[in-house]
Amino acid sequence: MSVHLDAWGLSDVGRQRARNEDSFSIDPERSLYLVADGMGGHGNGDVASRLVVEAVERYFRAHPGDGRPADPEAATESLRAAVGSAQGSLRMAMDEDLSLAGMGTTLVGLLAMDERAVVVHVGDSRAYRWRDGRLERLTRDHSWVDEQVAAGHLSEDQARSHPLKSVVTRALSGESGVEVDARTLSLQPGDRYLMCTDGLTTMLADDEIEARLARGGSLESVCRDLVDQCNARGGLDNITIVLLSVEPAE
Ligand code: CA
Repeated sequence: MSVHLDAWGLSDVGRQRARNEDSFSIDPERSLYLVADGMGGHGNGDVASRLVVEAVERYFRAHPGDGRPADPEAATESLRAAVGSAQGSLRMAMDEDLSLAGMGTTLVGLLAMDERAVVVHVGDSRAYRWRDGRLERLTRDHSWVDEQVAAGHLSEDQARSHPLKSVVTRALSGESGVEVDARTLSLQPGDRYLMCTDGLTTMLADDEIEARLARGGSLESVCRDLVDQCNARGGLDNITIVLLSVEPAE
């Protein structure tokens, strides 16, 4: 049995920020899904997130074999190579335009093959799996507050409202040697996978996201409801969601 993925993505500026510095992409042909949250560079975070998303997509278009990986190991290697090439694009852009210096971005990406997928990430953008009524976080934030949670110094709730909540300890900023976390998943019909920026997860707790997924509905309606909930609470940051649903192949 094989599966296929349906996807929907939504990016919203929120209620407080003047610009949206998040980017996302959905490539159903390659089953490649990306979410990025840009920062720094004198307000040019949007340039960083867009550049990285486009560079990863371009890498897969230029290396068609990498978009059809034989196994998770090959997929992980391809994703890491694509991120490396995106780092090169960031570096080049900053060399050409000094006003972009200091920009960076998070990235969470999912590449699926048959009944498996690889998730990679850098920074505090997240991936979750919804299965059998439960939401499970698949990524570990590279952030100062997450280190405090892991060490038992902060609760999840305290972390979400902490003044230093957006301090990331790892990001793509054009420097080589950044470690990209990767994990392999097995996909089952009925699973939903949610990828998002911290504009969602600082406004809503995991159990609130879980409760919305439990109500079901189209991918679009779930994304819209989650964004509306964030904005109803003040929409302090840009909110970006890519939601995937695993369907049995016809
Ligand atoms: Ca953000």
